[in-house]
Amino acid sequence: MSRRSSNTKSPTKPKNKKNTDSLSSSSPKEKLYDCSKCRSNVKDEDDGLMCEMCFAWFHRKCANISEAKYRVLSQSDGTEDGILWFCKECVNAQRSGHQVVAQKLDSVLGLIQELREELATVKKQKEILEENFDSRVKNIISEEREKERRKDSVVFYNIEDSHSSEEECAEKDKDILNSIIGPLKEGANVDNSCVSIMRLGTKKDSSKPRPLKVAFKDGSGLKRKVLKSKEEGKWEKKFSNIKVSPDRTQLEREEYRTLVKELIQRKENGEKDIIIRNNKIVSINSVPLPDRNGQKRSGQ
Ligand SMILES: [Zn+2]
Ligand SMILES: [Zn+2]
Repeated sequence: MSRRSSNTKSPTKPKNKKNTDSLSSSSPKEKLYDCSKCRSNVKDEDDGLMCEMCFAWFHRKCANISEAKYRVLSQSDGTEDGILWFCKECVNAQRSGHQVVAQKLDSVLGLIQELREELATVKKQKEILEENFDSRVKNIISEEREKERRKDSVVFYNIEDSHSSEEECAEKDKDILNSIIGPLKEGANVDNSCVSIMRLGTKKDSSKPRPLKVAFKDGSGLKRKVLKSKEEGKWEKKFSNIKVSPDRTQLEREEYRTLVKELIQRKENGEKDIIIRNNKIVSINSVPLPDRNGQKRSGQ
C-alpha cells in the first residue's frame, strides 16, 4: 500500500512526493514527508497518511492506525463525502480549543445576562425618577399658581354669620369689613378695594361661623395692612374676637400648623415672648428692620 492523503483537499502532495522520489531524504522538499512521530522519511512505498489539518505526515504504525482502518482511509476518494483523518495533536488541540471557547462563551453569556438585569433595574429606576420628577414639578407649579391666586387674599374668622338670610349676612360682612379697612387707608371701602368677598363652606346652624375670605385689589396693599394692624392690636375693641390670617394654600396651612406646634412646645420649654412672624418663630421684640442691632446696642 502506498502513501496517500485521506482526501483531495491537498491533492498536490502525493503527486509531489512521486515527483521528488529521486531526491535525498535530507532535501527540504523531502523533509515535508518526514514522519511527525518518528522523524524518519515516509517513503512512497510505506503506509503513510497525512493529517488534513496540519498537513503533517505519519507512518501508519506511528499514527496507531490498523491495517484495516488504513485500507478504509485509502479507499476514500477524498471528495466532500470522503473520510478525513486528523492527527492526535490536532484533535486534542481542537478539543481543548472547543473547551476554552465554551468556557468563554459561558462567561460572556453570564455577563450579558447580568447586563440585561442591570439594564432592567436602571430602566425601572429611570421611570420612577421621571414619574417622581414629573409629579414634583406639577406640584410645584400648581402650588405656585395657588399662591399667586391667593396673594391678595385674607381669611377672617369669628365674624358672625347666623343672620336670617345670605343677603343680610353679606350686608353685615360688608359693614364690618368697611369698619376694619376704613382706618387703614384713606377712602378705602369694600366697593373700591375688594375683588371678592365670600363665606367658605356650607352654613351650619349651631357651629362656629364660616370663615370669610376677602380678596383685595392687586396693589392695594390692604392685605399687609390688615394683618399688621391686627398683630399690633389696632382694631376696634368690638372686633377683638375676630381673627385674620393670610389666605394660605393647603401646603402652607400644613406648614403653619407645624410651626404653631413648635411654638407651643418652645413656650412649654420656658421660652418667653416668641411669636410667629413671616412663617418663622421670632422674639416678640425683634423688629423685622435693620435697626435690630441698634436695639441690642441700646440695651447694653
Ligand atoms: Zn514514523
Ligand atoms: Zn495534525
